[in-house]
Amino acid sequence: MSLPTAETLRDRARAALQAVGATVELGAPGESGLPASTPVTGDVLCTVPETTPDAADAAIAAAAGAFAQWRITPAPVRGALVARLGELLVEHQADLGTLVTIEAGKITSEARGEVQEMIDVCQFAVGLSRQLYGRTIASERPGHRLMETWHPLGAVGVITAFNFPVAVWAWNTAIALVCGDTVVWKPSELTPLTAIACQALIERAAADVGAPADVSRIILGNRDIGEQLVDDPRVALVSATGSVRMGREVGPRVAQRFGRSLLELGGNNAAIVAPSADLDLAVRGIVFSAAGTAGQRCTTLRRVIAHHSIVDTLVERITAAYRSLPIGDPAADGTLVGPLIHERSYRDMVGALEKARADGGEVVGGARRDLGEGSFYVEPAVVRMPAQTAVVHEETFAPILYVLTYDALDEAIALNNAVPQGLSSAIFTTDVREAETFMAADGSDCGIANVNIGTSGAEIGGAFGGEKQTGGGRESGSDAWKAYMRRATNTVNYSSKLPLAQGVHFG
Ligand code: NAD
Repeated sequence: MSLPTAETLRDRARAALQAVGATVELGAPGESGLPASTPVTGDVLCTVPETTPDAADAAIAAAAGAFAQWRITPAPVRGALVARLGELLVEHQADLGTLVTIEAGKITSEARGEVQEMIDVCQFAVGLSRQLYGRTIASERPGHRLMETWHPLGAVGVITAFNFPVAVWAWNTAIALVCGDTVVWKPSELTPLTAIACQALIERAAADVGAPADVSRIILGNRDIGEQLVDDPRVALVSATGSVRMGREVGPRVAQRFGRSLLELGGNNAAIVAPSADLDLAVRGIVFSAAGTAGQRCTTLRRVIAHHSIVDTLVERITAAYRSLPIGDPAADGTLVGPLIHERSYRDMVGALEKARADGGEVVGGARRDLGEGSFYVEPAVVRMPAQTAVVHEETFAPILYVLTYDALDEAIALNNAVPQGLSSAIFTTDVREAETFMAADGSDCGIANVNIGTSGAEIGGAFGGEKQTGGGRESGSDAWKAYMRRATNTVNYSSKLPLAQGVHFG
């Protein structure tokens, strides 16, 4: 399979940016600014203006300033902005999808699916704008009313990873905006063009509905500009998505200034395959979760824990499916596996496979497909491991699927829980006792525990996130909105007496 040229990709990116109304000045490769590259060919396509520390400071000041007006705008009116953003996303789904494919290397269907996730969360947030409910609580004192009210928090700093260059911004921004917060976004330095396109759309949406222009701002650059966001006391909440390494740095720094953080970090997700599993279903779920997005999702399936009675058949079927996966240009019809993001990812994959071999692992696949010098396309690998060794405990952001075996379900659950990360997990079984045990308090310790589907591809309606080194944050649906608001407890005395709580008498 041949790849498009850098010129073709540059033209496609330019056309998509133009279509969404982005007016950014793109520099030629090598000119000053932040390089915008593509994993499809490995080329730098252009440069974009990098945000200076002073400009980042001004962006934070602008968002913090806009908060004064935005927080008193009625929530359903705030919802109108998000509704308009959702409409623009529908209109420009293909344009944004093109940019995601160019910058993150996702196949077209997954890139458009990511934009669909943005549309879905906008719709969810619009409904939420009329449902920011507080509780009333029975007061122990006569003539008193006890209740909770929820209020906007302030400017929210959003830091995102390369592999979900648009959806994670939307999860945060759609919810933050209806909650009455304003946003400053630091996208991955690897995906600045998609971020510029999103910013153009939110600016258009704000202009269309008469919302303050500064409700959502963007700052472009490397981690140092992200650190500025992390350390700034005007940023009430830092919602950071990325590696455990990043979270380890960001969490304590935000805590140091008593800011709030919401961390969405790495995963090391497993699927248990029980003897009763529907293997057709399991193989499809496993292959999508493990090889999809070339193994570069936080929810990518990295470990299969298979019952010894079915492991041989299962591995045979997975490796057969892997052999038929079309690998190559992510924009081409039929491709299912696109490129790794950069050479470092490829080196990490090679290093992990070497370690696995040294630990007695039997590796099938994992070879590089030479489609061009600067790009890194790989065959997804399946590795049968004699034990869950140190390398299996690490998240290698590439398509490596380790296979482990078990005899009894509690052993399988213990293996599932034995890694430091706690994002997603699954069990394939037709035995209701096993399914319920897996989801019970002493079952999977992950934020996501699925039955008879893979570990990736969550819907926006549920709260998304994970435990342990995954950071504990929850984003997107359910009541994840509460992280973006502050809660006040109000006690109202409508009597003419002043009884004290707990029956205390004073004077
Ligand atoms: P990364 O940690 O290298 O970078 C993520 C973002 O953090 C980037 O914007 C980067 O510039 C910024 N950053 C890095 N160090 C920082 C610091 N000290 N202060 C402030 N900002 C800093 O991650 P990546 O390679 O872009 O993405 C892959 C990782 O992200 C994987 O570990 C994956 O599992 C994780 N991820 C998690 C989720 C989730 O929801 N749990 C979603 C997507 C990706």
